Amino acid sequence: RSKAKGGNSCSFYDPKLQTLLENQAELETDIVRAIINNEFCAYFQPQISMQGKLVGAEALIRWLHPTKGLITPNQFIPIAEQYGLIQKLQTIVLRNICSLVNQLDAKNMIDEQFSVSINISQRQFNSTELKNELCTTINEFNISPAQIKLEITETMLSGDINSTIKQMAELKAQGFVFSIDDFGTGYSCLAHLNAFPVQEIKIDKSFIDKILDKGKGFNIVNTIISLGKSLDITVVAEGVEQQEQFDMLNILDADYVQGYLIAKPMDATNYLTWHAQHIKKESLIA
Ligand code: C2E
Ligand code: MG
Ligand code: MG
Ligand code: MG
Repeated sequence: RSKAKGGNSCSFYDPKLQTLLENQAELETDIVRAIINNEFCAYFQPQISMQGKLVGAEALIRWLHPTKGLITPNQFIPIAEQYGLIQKLQTIVLRNICSLVNQLDAKNMIDEQFSVSINISQRQFNSTELKNELCTTINEFNISPAQIKLEITETMLSGDINSTIKQMAELKAQGFVFSIDDFGTGYSCLAHLNAFPVQEIKIDKSFIDKILDKGKGFNIVNTIISLGKSLDITVVAEGVEQQEQFDMLNILDADYVQGYLIAKPMDATNYLTWHAQHIKKESLIA
């Protein structure tokens, strides 16, 4: 039928699209099944200051699939968002975070400055339920809101600025803090950053990858760090893999680093062990 109309400009049946849609639908069904079977959990990746102090961790969702093994978020977060399943996943991650913070606190392994970041997707950020869920969960686990850092992406700042500021201000009033993820990759007006109640920005890995080539990467990182200094916002470098990158970030006066050089994301048990060992080393140095 479409041939008669000439070319593929008006095809009713596209086998590739059909396969894509079927795969997505299968993945959706599998995510629903996996939620019921408790296959999702948060991994934790430490963040340290340039002086080596453990300052926080980022929670990163993982899918421990019974046959496919460990699946990373880029392979399922977009589908979960599209099919309205992201809320359920966020709840799992949030509860994992609160449980970890509660344990660290009970063991006297953290101070008030230590916080764990949670990645908030656009849809969740827009939801009126976010504040409620955050408050209810931290109360249940008896932890302070300042120990939860909400990571939103730079792109999310470029929407309706007034409603974004309102939502952020309400959460800030509750005591939660904000970090801007993937900083430098969006097209938002960086000069307007101070319009938002932001405590931290995270320089995207793509710039850290190029920090040692004297060129664009270096200049962008340098500019972001200066911007952070001038606005009194903490600057975190993510995806730091090499000592030379760390040394350069130290020269440029970044605040915190996160990356494989320090540690890969770990499950809660391994994270607790890592955390305990790290603070023991800190106390030996101090
Ligand atoms: P992101 O928030 O920018 O997270 C940083 C990503 O870089 C993570 O990938 C982390 O494992 C990876 N990474 C950290 N250090 C290094 C390094 O030194 N080298 C390399 N090659 N990679 C490093 P991951 O865990 O696969 O997460 C990918 C993205 O998925 C995240 O990017 C975030 O946008 C999203 N995501 C992760 N967890 C959640 C979640 O619970 N909820 C939502 N909505 N999104 C999530
Ligand atoms: Mg993040
Ligand atoms: Mg990031
Ligand atoms: Mg990133």
